[in-house]
Amino acid sequence: MYDIIIVGAGPAGLTACIYACIARKKVLVLEKEVYGGQIVNANKVKNYPGFEEISGYDYATKLYTQAKSLGPEIKFEEVIDIYDKGDLKEVKTSKSNYIGKSVIIATGSKNRKLGLSNEDKLLGKGISYCATCDGTFYKNKVVAITGGGNSAIDDALYLSNIAEKLYLIYRQKDFRIESINLDKLKKKDNVEFILDTNIIDIKGEDKLESITIKNNETNEEKELKVDGLFIAIGHIPVSDMCNNIVKTNETGYIIADEDCQTNVDGIFVAGDIRVKEIRQLTTACSDGTVAALNACKYLAKK
Ligand code: NAP
Repeated sequence: MYDIIIVGAGPAGLTACIYACIARKKVLVLEKEVYGGQIVNANKVKNYPGFEEISGYDYATKLYTQAKSLGPEIKFEEVIDIYDKGDLKEVKTSKSNYIGKSVIIATGSKNRKLGLSNEDKLLGKGISYCATCDGTFYKNKVVAITGGGNSAIDDALYLSNIAEKLYLIYRQKDFRIESINLDKLKKKDNVEFILDTNIIDIKGEDKLESITIKNNETNEEKELKVDGLFIAIGHIPVSDMCNNIVKTNETGYIIADEDCQTNVDGIFVAGDIRVKEIRQLTTACSDGTVAALNACKYLAKK
């Protein structure tokens, strides 16, 4: 029996873990994959207070080490379901069932896919969602990146310093963001902007060979030979394991106010998975703090 079961070991979940352990609660953290969440993929983090610059991996490792030193149980198991049994909550994983007095859901979000055939088959064989992880494999090669948000622009700038040629493919006629990195990218000789265009096909057997793009206005199709394709088109929430128990919005993000309390008594939410406007490392940690302290308050009342 645990006081608090935390689902997800990203910045929100691990921050919640630190606060809950310091409050002397019996804590179980359940994580499906690796600790750190999406920040692990960030090449450089320059906006986390207290660190002028730190790699995402180093930050995540420091956070994990700090949380672990405080004595929680941490298990790498996928949570499949959460049941509300009044004062107790049952968390079912791929391996076991756990009972807690409260739960904090901090599952974050995952990469959005283009949804094209061959996208999964060629993952790791030319297709990647993480420029920082895989960019160096494309030294002096021809790569494409698709997306028009901050991630795509930051990743494009990173890749432009490695690849011989980079195509930046975006579905709108113009960018909606303002970014210093976009200005830098526009000055690069090896970067070709292909706007108002979607990728409609991915070709390759054992490795990526080419992509087919289609202009939205002219419907003109063109095949581009590329060694790599980086997909940076945003994220979707990871809430499948709990969307039958807590209220979510139409896109699957969990609804809670700034107190991180969901519609179910004793179930809290923290980080990118919560409905909110600004999703940053700092706001994820902030949510982790609030969720853990409110879970402690909830336990004290009980
Ligand atoms: P995002 O802001 O949601 O941008 C997603 C991009 O992908 C948009 O340009 C969108 O196009 C495009 N897109 C979505 N679905 C698509 C599809 N099916 N096919 C083709 N294109 C598609 O995601 P993000 O760039 O990952 O950023 C997430 C959050 O983190 C944002 O709040 C961002 O500001 C923040 N962030 C900040 C920084 C920074 O401050 N340096 C760096 C990275 C991320 P449309 O424009 O047409 O919708």
